[in-house]
Amino acid sequence: MSSAVSFQQVTKHYGSFEALKGISFDVEEGSFFGLLGPNGAGKSTLINAMSGLLVPTSGHIKVHGEDVVHDYRKTRRALGLVPQELIADPFFTIRQLLELQSGYFGIRGPEQSKWINELLERLALSDKANSITNELSGGMKRRVLIAMALVHKPRVLVLDEPTAGVDVDLRHTLWEFTKELHQKGHTIILTTHYLEEAEALCEKVAIMQHGEVKALDTTSELLACHPFRYVRVSVEDETQPLSEALKSKLVESDASGYLFKLEKQQSMSDMLGMLHQSGLDVKDIRSRDASLEEVFMNLTGAAQS
Ligand code: ADP
Ligand code: MG
Repeated sequence: MSSAVSFQQVTKHYGSFEALKGISFDVEEGSFFGLLGPNGAGKSTLINAMSGLLVPTSGHIKVHGEDVVHDYRKTRRALGLVPQELIADPFFTIRQLLELQSGYFGIRGPEQSKWINELLERLALSDKANSITNELSGGMKRRVLIAMALVHKPRVLVLDEPTAGVDVDLRHTLWEFTKELHQKGHTIILTTHYLEEAEALCEKVAIMQHGEVKALDTTSELLACHPFRYVRVSVEDETQPLSEALKSKLVESDASGYLFKLEKQQSMSDMLGMLHQSGLDVKDIRSRDASLEEVFMNLTGAAQS
């Protein structure tokens, strides 16, 4: 497999603060890759360095084998970036912005106009094509950014929190759209706050914290390596006290019962024994494997917010 993007010992310092502490990993060509981490982990810094928006303090980043600093024009053409920050432009309409962006890459002509129309249609922006972006909702501004990132049909699409603050409908539209681009062969790099989104979409995931990569693996391997599984127990009377053994396994409780976590090697019979010993009046038991959210919390000790 060849690499779409290769990070080689990338650091970024702001004064004495190290936003990136020597990041090295590769994103395989054609993969759907998730970049996760709590706020301030360094995800946007890494993405911006890859896109040539900032220069790393040391290290190298290659896009399809070309260095993003030395071969900026070439690598910029291979990338489409959907930035985290929204834009609002009081001077240009959506269509004009897309034409300007095309011009920046030197692409014009009827084929390009056709592609722009297609993008407007796919992102449900056709009837707003002649509006200035100041007049648009947040979700629409996000879609304009996605259209702008795609005007030059980049091989690698990088989305920095594209679904933050976006309603459920649009989130699903964007999922479908990025899945389709992935199926067409584009490499997709996605950062997101929604871990169920990463779990559903990403084949491989890097989890960053404090400017370092804490874990990098296929999503299925990360889930399989998690040391716990989870047991939800519904009870008749949730005021009944739990035994010490059960308390040590408790994750959370609510009006309908408890969520326990169990070491993978521990058997369900142990769990049933403990419930029996506590004398709980059990209504229902459901056991499941970890979600990516739980893997993330276990690795970083933080909720992704
Ligand atoms: P993430 O996208 O993972 O939330 P960022 O990459 O935006 O994180 O930020 C990583 C860290 O670098 C944060 O602690 C942030 O405050 C810091 N940082 C980002 N940009 C600058 C800057 N221009 N000057 C100083 N610190 C910065
Ligand atoms: Mg960010």
